[in-house]
Amino acid sequence: MTNSETLFARAQLTIPGGVNSPVRAFKAVGGTPRFIARADGPYMFDVDNNRYIDYINSWGPMVLGHNNQAIREAVIKASENGLSYGAPTEAEIQMAELVSSIVPSMEMVRMVNSGTEATMSAIRLARGYTGRDKLLKFEGCYHGHADSLLVKAGSGALTLGVPSSPGVPDDVAKHTLTVDFNNIDSVKQAFVEHGHDIACIIVEPVAGNMNCILPVPGFLEGLRTICDEYGAVLIFDEVMTGFRVSLGGAQERFNVMPDLTCLGKVIGGGMPVGAFGGKREILTHIAPTGPVYQAGTLSGNPIAMAAGLCALTQLKAEGFYDSIFKNTQAIADGFQQMADKNGIALSTNVAGSMFGIFFTDEKVTSYKQATSVNQAQFNQFYHSMLSEGVYMAPASYEAGFVSKMHTSDVVDATITAADKSFARITAK
Ligand code: PMP
Repeated sequence: MTNSETLFARAQLTIPGGVNSPVRAFKAVGGTPRFIARADGPYMFDVDNNRYIDYINSWGPMVLGHNNQAIREAVIKASENGLSYGAPTEAEIQMAELVSSIVPSMEMVRMVNSGTEATMSAIRLARGYTGRDKLLKFEGCYHGHADSLLVKAGSGALTLGVPSSPGVPDDVAKHTLTVDFNNIDSVKQAFVEHGHDIACIIVEPVAGNMNCILPVPGFLEGLRTICDEYGAVLIFDEVMTGFRVSLGGAQERFNVMPDLTCLGKVIGGGMPVGAFGGKREILTHIAPTGPVYQAGTLSGNPIAMAAGLCALTQLKAEGFYDSIFKNTQAIADGFQQMADKNGIALSTNVAGSMFGIFFTDEKVTSYKQATSVNQAQFNQFYHSMLSEGVYMAPASYEAGFVSKMHTSDVVDATITAADKSFARITAK
């Protein structure tokens, strides 16, 4: 038995499924999840001393690569002054000011501890602000595991076949309308029927939980227009895309301004952090200035703020994203070339430092296409890549994440592994 196998058997005795978040369990691809001992730069090392080039990057946060020296030092320095106060600090103001300067639509910012908290709180605020109950989301978009949002969700909820989880009351789910991503007519139709009851649209502006799907031209603009017409709040869930598809997120890249934005992952530099914010006029409805309640014992935690501030400051450096975007495109192009060479039908999508590979010959723009790919081929490819030392997300519905430390030699090694892995695919 490998050390990972021993630990996985032990973990399952006291942790449901042996993991603290479902996708980690390798259920979709089979086999044993690797237990990680440490990570550095583009690499993770498991408890059996195997080294992997990491394309999960903690599911997005590690845009600077693992074990960034400046963040590590900032965390150690902050921890010397105590771990948590439950009282305001200057670092929280610096964080709000920095976020606001990078993402101008966020005139005010409230810190939370996860992406789930950010979206859950933004939805409550939108409902409180508009006095309406319904929300509109897109099939295959994942916004964390709050009840209202766990309806036809993506990511682990897709893989595990529980798009609507038991435990979410029908009375809650009935307020969530679900329509097709990249299909503005389906949104218009929902608004014709329910428009004056809809508090908000929440969308991943680049969908990253049904693999990686970019918005078709006009889609995000169309959402903006519809929200304006009906007085609904437009929420961009940029938990994944924030500081990743460009410094200012998808809203900067596609030049469409939401009313509220949710952030997570990169904003904490690896610490458990999330944030939501947006128009001052809306944010003042949150307690203590307004009646919509939202709170957090550890929100704005000083260690987390130190890590996040240090991460964002590094990302602001002139030209930071140039090499990472170039390398992400090179990975997608390399995969495509190797698939073509080995006679495997594949298509790819790239958004900044996120990428998706699809075992199909169609360009993927919809949930339906993303869920009709060849799973058997993906699974064979996945295990071959793992044996070649490349750690990708263990499910075909997840995006890949590239860091600053994935330099061109790391990219080349990945493409060589992909060549071997496509050649080994026997599934039809
Ligand atoms: N929104 C999006 C777009 C996400 O990708 C995720 C997590 N993958 C979340 C929200 C939830 O974030 P967290 O896991 O930090 O609660």
